Amino acid sequence: MVLERESLGTLFEALVRQGYKILGPTLHEGAIVYDELTSTSDLPAGWTDEQDGGTYRVKRRNDGALFGYVVGPHSWKKFLFPPVLRLWQAERRGNGFQIEAEQHESTKMAFFGVRSCELHALAIQDKVFANGTYVDPLYKGRRDRVFVVAVNCGQAGGTCFCVSMNTGPRVSSGFDLALTEVLEDGHHYFVVEAGTEAGLQVLAELPHRPAEEGEKEAAEKVVARATAQMGRRMDTTGIKELLYSNYEHPRWDNVAGRCLTCANCTMVCPTCFCSTVEDVTDLKGEHAERWRKWDSCFTTDFSYIHGGSVRSTPKARYRQWMTHKLATWIDQFGSSGCVGCGRCITWCPVGIDITEEVRAIRGTDVSGRSGKESSHGNTREDSD
Ligand code: SF4
Ligand code: SF4
Repeated sequence: MVLERESLGTLFEALVRQGYKILGPTLHEGAIVYDELTSTSDLPAGWTDEQDGGTYRVKRRNDGALFGYVVGPHSWKKFLFPPVLRLWQAERRGNGFQIEAEQHESTKMAFFGVRSCELHALAIQDKVFANGTYVDPLYKGRRDRVFVVAVNCGQAGGTCFCVSMNTGPRVSSGFDLALTEVLEDGHHYFVVEAGTEAGLQVLAELPHRPAEEGEKEAAEKVVARATAQMGRRMDTTGIKELLYSNYEHPRWDNVAGRCLTCANCTMVCPTCFCSTVEDVTDLKGEHAERWRKWDSCFTTDFSYIHGGSVRSTPKARYRQWMTHKLATWIDQFGSSGCVGCGRCITWCPVGIDITEEVRAIRGTDVSGRSGKESSHGNTREDSD
């Protein structure tokens, strides 16, 4: 179906009529972030972003595209798995305590402008929080009330590699509606697909018409353009075995010399899900609270077990993170923990690049499995 640009507001109105709070991309303090939207005028019309290792800039486009950028520092996980969440509080009552359960978010949320890599990330977090042996009721309660408006990418960022991870740029599942934005010869419109019954019902409320062949072809060209532009690539052939057989590779020392263990990469990653729990009390012992907060395998406290941290060095922590993402995750959850969104590369303050680290290990595989043998700390990249 085709929805004209000037009718996009009717999609907002239909979602609001159905009780959804609309969350989506908006320009804030020099970055495109996810926040509550009140109308289509909150979208970053005419803006794009430039990304590279440790670099992010927004800049003006020469057209009025509403989705002419890729992904920013936020991911949708902040709405389903909030960075800081009070789990309960308690008040002293005589000789005991009364526990007060938290009233958690019950609003229906419409995620507007979800990219293909992000749909894959949502599916990964669903597996962890909602579809496994242990269900997180806070996550599941929110997730069950989400309506997804996906957007096919029309351009790729400098750090994107979804094609390598088979997670994009075209959306394939996990959406209620999917939009492809087309701007050609002064005509600005969206080719719309419905992925669910709920999506069809919303679409029925909008002024739409069947897409003509030329319009469908134009939409396909939009995605093909993004496919051809990937800023990064990663060879994932045998990656689990590659990493399992290179625990002692000298490249881990090399990357540890650059890594600040700041944890930015895990905070921005749409699939990372580690958290910690903190209990706090007031000084009089009358009131206590339990909070859940995002944590990271890059902190020393995260692996602290009576007497010390299991992973006390930056080398051990970086190796843990990358090996979990690309290898042990596969054994644990049946898929890679990386969807190729590129955020960890863009938002790493020293520009450490997961694709480059894999290339370095593959190029100088010390396990004897394949690739070049290396008995020193330098890699092919270093000597280049
Ligand atoms: S890899 Fe980069 S973002 Fe991640 S902890 Fe190290 S310095 Fe920080
Ligand atoms: S590891 Fe990096 S590229 Fe992969 S999903 Fe996480 S942030 Fe994105």
